[in-house]
Amino acid sequence: ERAARAAAPVTPGALADGTPVPLLANLGSADGAEEAARLGAEGVGLFRTEFLFLDANTAPSVTEQQAQYTRMLSAFPGRKVVVRVLDAGADKPLSFLNDAPEENPALGLRGIRALRHSEVILREQLTALAAADAATDADLWVMAPMIATVEETRYFTNLCRELGIKVAGVMVETPSAALIADHILKVADFASIGTNDLTQYTMAADRLLGTVANLQDAWHPAVLRLVAQVGEAGRVDGRPVGICGEAAADPLLAVVLVGLGATSLSMSPSALADVRASLARHTREDAERIARAALAAEGAAEAKQAAQEAAAASA
Ligand code: PEP
Ligand code: MG
Repeated sequence: ERAARAAAPVTPGALADGTPVPLLANLGSADGAEEAARLGAEGVGLFRTEFLFLDANTAPSVTEQQAQYTRMLSAFPGRKVVVRVLDAGADKPLSFLNDAPEENPALGLRGIRALRHSEVILREQLTALAAADAATDADLWVMAPMIATVEETRYFTNLCRELGIKVAGVMVETPSAALIADHILKVADFASIGTNDLTQYTMAADRLLGTVANLQDAWHPAVLRLVAQVGEAGRVDGRPVGICGEAAADPLLAVVLVGLGATSLSMSPSALADVRASLARHTREDAERIARAALAAEGAAEAKQAAQEAAAASA
């Protein structure tokens, strides 16, 4: 009953014309699940599973993982919950996965690449997730981080099917994945754009480095054009395209992302209320017009200003 009470009071995200835009939560552990539901999350768009593995010398057992996943899924009965498999490497190094030193860890064995290298860890994680799914009535979707090729997509979705995961998708965090999203979405059930890494790799600017932080801006039209490509591929292939990077938490950028074809937005729960209010001020037509204004700008600051002006015109 605890879970049922937590999931009850949800105001669904929607544009002014009623177009639904599900607003989901980014979670870094099972602890925040009930609070997210209370703040109006319609589900979970990104459950980061690194917390289970960080500070550990070995991977947690299938039983331990299953208990954590079951706890989190139980807070969202009947709702969509997107779990990301372990994203180790680069800004999230793990001693037992990333053992060889690398000159450029952000370009190295990370995300799906690292999991493939240690496939038993991925198999165990998917096994635990399938068991937790069977034990609860949330709608479990599972996705892989740092996908760059169709071949990786096929590898991941095949393994998901083999181990009983019903909905298998990919994160779009590399320019490569965005540019071939049409092919990827013929294999994956859905895409979720991680704008933090997508911006890092598009702008070739380390997301952790203060000296290049000015380039880590998802308003940049180079990033927005990639998002638009993924949105268009999703529309053509009839596949959901979510956003789960920080960009979704910016109320105006959220409108732009929807205008570019995003079908759901996931963010830290504290941002839900402002994004919900912002979406409610614009119709789908407005969102597309605002997005076109941002896309046509020459830089990040200009894109933001153009979007502000276009948004003022629709209010
Ligand atoms: C992203 O890259 O945008 C993302 C959501 O994943 P993370 O921030 O965990 O790398
Ligand atoms: Mg990422």
